[in-house]
Amino acid sequence: MIHILESNKKYDVVVCGCGSAGFCAAVAAARNGARTAVIEKYSTPGGILTVLGNNSIDQFNNPFRKTNKMVIGGIGWEFVLKLYRDGFARIPDMNADYVDHSQYGVKVNPVAAAKVMDDMLIDAGVDLYYGQPIVDVETEDRMIKSVLISTKDGVKRIEAALFIDCTGDADIAHFAKATTFDGDGDGHFQPGTIRYYPAISPDASDKVLNYGDNRNHVSMNSTNSDMVTLSEIESRRLLYNDMLGGKLIMGSAPAVAPREGRRIKGISTMKVEDYFSGKQYDDSVCYTFWFVDIHRKGMASEIHYIKHENTPSVRLSSMISSEFDNLAMAGRCISTDRQTNSAIRVKASCMAMGQAIGTASAVAVKNKIKIKDISVNELKSKLSLQGAIVPGISDGEEFVLN
Ligand SMILES: Cc1cc2nc3c(=O)[nH]c(=O)nc-3n(C[C@H](O)[C@H](O)[C@H](O)COP(=O)(O)OP(=O)(O)OC[C@H]3O[C@@H](n4cnc5c(N)ncnc54)[C@H](O)[C@@H]3O)c2cc1C
Repeated sequence: MIHILESNKKYDVVVCGCGSAGFCAAVAAARNGARTAVIEKYSTPGGILTVLGNNSIDQFNNPFRKTNKMVIGGIGWEFVLKLYRDGFARIPDMNADYVDHSQYGVKVNPVAAAKVMDDMLIDAGVDLYYGQPIVDVETEDRMIKSVLISTKDGVKRIEAALFIDCTGDADIAHFAKATTFDGDGDGHFQPGTIRYYPAISPDASDKVLNYGDNRNHVSMNSTNSDMVTLSEIESRRLLYNDMLGGKLIMGSAPAVAPREGRRIKGISTMKVEDYFSGKQYDDSVCYTFWFVDIHRKGMASEIHYIKHENTPSVRLSSMISSEFDNLAMAGRCISTDRQTNSAIRVKASCMAMGQAIGTASAVAVKNKIKIKDISVNELKSKLSLQGAIVPGISDGEEFVLN
């Protein structure tokens, strides 16, 4: 029998996981008046962006537009500008005509990025639970009542009116036994990647750091702990062999970064045909821009580029569980098919989704209604007033860097 410790705090919104999506969701919920907590399994916020060492944020713009190329703004862009002002972000010219999508990626210094995330979360009034993984949930009918977290004191219960699953792998939905779609549905997932840090920085005066190709791909199924153990062992063997071969490696990320996990069944599920055509829905609350990008170990990736002005968007109803009334999601675990997931998972899109769902959650709790019943128009106006670029309200913005 596990003894469960009670928390003396009750929250309006608990954000589960503090990667790109969770960070923005928590800041947005708190700024909109919700008593908010964010719970993160690592001791550092940022997920793949900081802890797991992929320091590129794609893609804030749609380069195929003639004007108004910036399609994502808001909290994600505010975060980038804070880093930029202290020399910790490299922002490319979003109006340039680059050959490769990745050239539009904003590169950040991961240590500085995590510190700025701390600052923005604390300034917004978010309670931080770092280094405290969620290990289970308690449910009643169509509601999640609490999450159970592993702390230094033991297992603790955290209650909230509404939970946002930003764990990337949809751990909360899985613990709640909600329906998820996993990888290709046949037990296959995209490979993960271990980042390593060379012993000598290519340019010690570079405050942003360019990790470039300092990475190895390994087989990965981040939804299965035994498989994760095997991936970690494989990653160290690869690094060991690299070092035997003469590579100078000073350290590596603490874990293999997963590209793909579970996707939660939402009220709607975004389909690749609509994504590709840039279809807009009544409940589109943010834009997203990247190509279909399914990595395959030892083989070329499946890639389909989008090369037109129509910018795909994310639906609010794809970020709300169809099975639990107080479960929402943002980031790479929202409700999409596999191809769409491989596109919407990039970090700028995750940040835009986070801001949208964090704000929606605060509105739902304040009005004491289900998140699926909030006024989409009210949400869109609020998001727009708070600096987000919102389909149906703003078509995008010009790129300006002061
Ligand atoms: C190797 C690699 C390269 C990539 N390259 C790029 C790129 O160049 N540009 C780009 O934009 N995107 C890139 N991506 C994609 C992008 O990084 C991710 O899709 C994105 O970070 C997803 O954001 P997220 O917030 O949904 O999830 P994550 O960043 O994975 O964050 C999830 C957070 O939840 C936490 N968490 C998980 N489970 C629990 C739990 N049970 N309890 C508490 N906390 C939990 C995790 O620790 C993590 O902090 C890459 C991904 C990989 C793996």
